[in-house]
Amino acid sequence: MTPMEKIRKLRESGSFHFTKSLGQNFLTDDNILEKLVRAAGISREDAVIEIGPGAGIVTEKLLQGAGPVLAVEIDKALIPFLEETLAEYPNFTLWHEDVLKAPLDKWIKEHSPEKPIKVVGNLPYYVTTPIIMKLLEDGFPIDTMVFMVQKEVALRMAAKPGTKDYSALSVAVQVYCQVEKAFDVSSHVFIPKPKVDSAVVRLRRHAEPPAQIDDPKLFFTLVKAAFGQRRKTLSNALSHLRPKEEKSRIIDVLQAAGIDPVRRGETLNIQEFANLSLLWRKTFFHDTMDADKNS
Ligand code: SAM
Repeated sequence: MTPMEKIRKLRESGSFHFTKSLGQNFLTDDNILEKLVRAAGISREDAVIEIGPGAGIVTEKLLQGAGPVLAVEIDKALIPFLEETLAEYPNFTLWHEDVLKAPLDKWIKEHSPEKPIKVVGNLPYYVTTPIIMKLLEDGFPIDTMVFMVQKEVALRMAAKPGTKDYSALSVAVQVYCQVEKAFDVSSHVFIPKPKVDSAVVRLRRHAEPPAQIDDPKLFFTLVKAAFGQRRKTLSNALSHLRPKEEKSRIIDVLQAAGIDPVRRGETLNIQEFANLSLLWRKTFFHDTMDADKNS
């Protein structure tokens, strides 16, 4: 069945209506579908989790090329249709769950105990960042993720220091992964048509992290402060974290970390943020308890 035939059949089944609040924009274009699945480099050796199967358009392509596939769908109205139309595939598991709460580690342990898995999804836009951050932060054994997201989010995830799209999200994702924008996707290839264009991003987990981050909470507090006031120099942007401190002490910490205090936060790479958080901690906090209280 082509994507359009699947969507027509789903609509004719009578029990499904598109729910905007669940980010339901279904893919209608075979070429984009091919490219999305190809970008993940999937083979029969791979266990794959798909987030948000919708009418099963991406799911079926995955089932034809991958090993075990788990699809996690929040909308109950889609479950009978997916069960019925994909029943012929022995490698298919379907969960009716919110992916943010689903015990993915259980499925991974059972279906791919040795090899890291892949994750694919045309993600619901309202919850893209929480989904990606959960997959990264929970430490699941995942080596590659390929996601369709809003183009603007793709650009932010892949952005390099000093560019206009470089943001706290770029740092948060690039701490874990190498990110590349694979290709752009026009809003015309979805039903219903979203207001914005999309892009496919590929995230590959680093074999070696780009920097050692001893205190992630403090690291991300500094990252957020640095990007929160983009027009300010770093010494000004960071001083609101320590309102009672002499500004010269903030400048000293920056200099000790090898960072010119008049630079702007958006120019720092991950290694520089890591150096800064190490020295910040040494200067202002004596132990973990203090850092947790004050960061
Ligand atoms: N994969 C299909 C396609 O490409 O045509 C549908 C993609 S649509 C953009 C996003 C899908 O994610 C919808 O089916 C929606 O119901 C589902 N979804 C939304 N929030 C979810 C969540 N928290 N957990 C799991 N699925 C979710």
